[in-house]
Amino acid sequence: MKLLFERSVAGRGQTVFPQLDVPEVAFDQALLRRDMPRLPQMAEVDLGRHYTELASQTHGVNDGFYPLGSCTMKYNPRVNEQVAALPGFTDIHPLQPVETAQGCLRAMHELEAMLCEICGMDAMTLQPAAGAHGEYTGLLLIRAHHLANGDTARTKIIVPDSAHGTNPASAVMAGFTVVSVPSNAQGGVDLDALRAAVGPDTAGLMLTNPNTLGLFDPNILQICQIVHEAGGLCYYDGANLNAVMGHARPGDMGFDCVHVNLHKTFSTPHGGGGPGSGPVGCKAFLAPYLPGPRVAQDADGHLSFEQPEQSVGKVRSFYGNFLVAVRALTYILTLGREGIPEASSTAVLNANYLAHLLAEAGYDLPYGERCMHEFVIDCGPLKAKTGVSAMDVAKRLLDFGIHPPTMYFPLIVHEALMVEPTETEARETLDEFVQMMTAILEEAHTDGERLHGAPFTCPIGRPDEVTAARKPHLRYEFGE
Ligand SMILES: *Cc1c(COP(=O)(O)O)cnc(C)c1O
Repeated sequence: MKLLFERSVAGRGQTVFPQLDVPEVAFDQALLRRDMPRLPQMAEVDLGRHYTELASQTHGVNDGFYPLGSCTMKYNPRVNEQVAALPGFTDIHPLQPVETAQGCLRAMHELEAMLCEICGMDAMTLQPAAGAHGEYTGLLLIRAHHLANGDTARTKIIVPDSAHGTNPASAVMAGFTVVSVPSNAQGGVDLDALRAAVGPDTAGLMLTNPNTLGLFDPNILQICQIVHEAGGLCYYDGANLNAVMGHARPGDMGFDCVHVNLHKTFSTPHGGGGPGSGPVGCKAFLAPYLPGPRVAQDADGHLSFEQPEQSVGKVRSFYGNFLVAVRALTYILTLGREGIPEASSTAVLNANYLAHLLAEAGYDLPYGERCMHEFVIDCGPLKAKTGVSAMDVAKRLLDFGIHPPTMYFPLIVHEALMVEPTETEARETLDEFVQMMTAILEEAHTDGERLHGAPFTCPIGRPDEVTAARKPHLRYEFGE
């Protein structure tokens, strides 16, 4: 596919500026650029076609099944978009007087209250722009708490070996050292290893429950107790909240602090589809450290911004990705008290349905067929028998118009395919997926060699992913 610069024809471009509607000001002429910017020149229709072609080469929730484990690629209801597009929400400025933005402050205030209720927390900030950013923010709260107690020796964060890579990364970013604890044979936290890991240097534990294997840890109360007795705090990575929302609350499990991924659990667009949001909730004793400003309500219901006394400071400009928060609020209000737990029950049902059928088809499920909202297939045995790897299976799925499951994560399953169907997929879609996975299994046994070349129908087959990530080529090199 040609780039815009390659399609450009000199002289074809035309720019029409609107009439000047602000006073002209004098400025230093030295600041004026000397050369015209080298923008591509083309007609609007060709530009439109270029982007439509690009769009058709990518895969989104609107194109088809997207069982990307840990990412909760659920459908984004259009009503969220309609509400977020209301002029009352879009035509405001973050610096305008709060008296003129009461509706927006109310939307933030109500979303915070609902997320607190769903998570069993006392206070919430909407500032963090993603889950990883929320982790970082939560860890700053934990650090502030220990420092306020004069407890400077608490420098270590415990992270299970099944954790998402952002957990240890955030801990290091927040100035902690990471201690990894192994999982037990059932896929949960090894309690003895945890007991051995905690001590006077423990700042806290980061955990997602259900974990990245899709398993709810039955020892969760004990886990939090062990950490608390050692003087540490418990941080809940809420990326898997879709499995339990409306049924179980991190606050009741013993967690002190949590982030929520609005772009996962609460159906706001994801990845290339839009900015994320990772609100952070905490128990009352951590609230004084939250990033400010925070929305506060007085006795008359009037809303304003206030700065928490011992705030760790801002983690993002203004108030977070506000329109993402509006989408999430719309979603929660649409589903309501019955709909929230029902969505999560259906997500768990869909995952168990798929896990059962794929195990029946011959895939290896190392932690059994019972799961929460996602499960992990181990392609290790398949690879040993046929040479076909998790990568080959994932790449072949692209030919069927399906986004592959998450690959090679969690790290403790070496040939992992992590499948999360979400609640928004129909049974027919799940059945079709099983048919495709069954067909691939058959190919693996009859013509495994061929699968190393998959996909056969995509614009790009097997890019060099390491180079693409480490040395991204993002600028057009002009010829002369
Ligand atoms: C997605 C995810 C994160 C990180 O969230 P982002 O919003 O992508 O930054 C952290 N932990 C788990 C388990 C996740 O699935």
